[in-house]
Amino acid sequence: MNIFNTKLELKAFLAEQKERAKSIGFVPTMGALHQGHLSLVKRAKEKNDLVVVSIFVNPTQFDSNEDLKKYPQTLKNDKELLESVACDVLFVPSVEEIYDNNISSEKFNFDGLEHEMEGKFREGHFDGVGTIVKALLEIVMPNTAYFGKKDFQQLQIVKKLAEKYDLPVKIKGRPIYRENDGLAMSSRNARLTKEHREIAPFIYKTLKKAKKKFGAKNIEELTKWVKKQFKKEPLLELEYFTIADEKTLQTPKKIEAKKKYRAFIAVFAGDIRLIDNVGLK
Ligand code: AMP
Repeated sequence: MNIFNTKLELKAFLAEQKERAKSIGFVPTMGALHQGHLSLVKRAKEKNDLVVVSIFVNPTQFDSNEDLKKYPQTLKNDKELLESVACDVLFVPSVEEIYDNNISSEKFNFDGLEHEMEGKFREGHFDGVGTIVKALLEIVMPNTAYFGKKDFQQLQIVKKLAEKYDLPVKIKGRPIYRENDGLAMSSRNARLTKEHREIAPFIYKTLKKAKKKFGAKNIEELTKWVKKQFKKEPLLELEYFTIADEKTLQTPKKIEAKKKYRAFIAVFAGDIRLIDNVGLK
């Protein structure tokens, strides 16, 4: 695996590859890799001649300094995992390499997608995401970039970003990888206490039950029902449960057969914030 820390070296290497007409798949990450990340790398490997993974803990997308400071960093292990799936190129830039001396976000208009769900609770988060994803796509210039549906709102926003800026890249969304007990894999899971880790699968269990009830209960009733379930779990604090149209990310007034809907959730387990979502029929 070729490892680069600077844009210049990475771009020079990729320019050479592109001359040989190699198709490039790209997987941006913040490291502390798990099987969810690796599933994206494997998919990119299947579909492209060359796969680039980036590891960059992007300061501008964190709304809390504490969360940024505590974000797990496991670069040695990450490199081994990437070698194990035959990743071709790893890009690990420093904060200065990406931002110079100006660590700030561009302001984006994602046609309202940025104001729903995560946008309501994490100020500036999607400006930070937009800033880093645009920068990385412009550096790597991949044919296709792969994102997990674990961060479904982010996926839709990245699609909007590519469309608005006419970026010559296909954005692909991939399924959520879960632990055996159903908890969505996340780099933050490693920071859960033993007690919180044990109770955390309750989030997906509740989502699955809500999915079964969708249709029989209306959205308001279902939201009330979910809130009630979390009241019974003192170790978990529900931040939001929302049913939204997959395209607009807005809660529908009326369910339409032709549209796709999804249930989204954010929960605090102690000071660790976990998100998850499921598609609804
Ligand atoms: P992160 O390192 O958390 O920024 O995630 C990097 C990419 O991996 C994003 O596209 C995430 O949506 C994706 N990802 C994170 N967790 C999972 C998961 N459990 N299943 C599938 N994709 C994931």
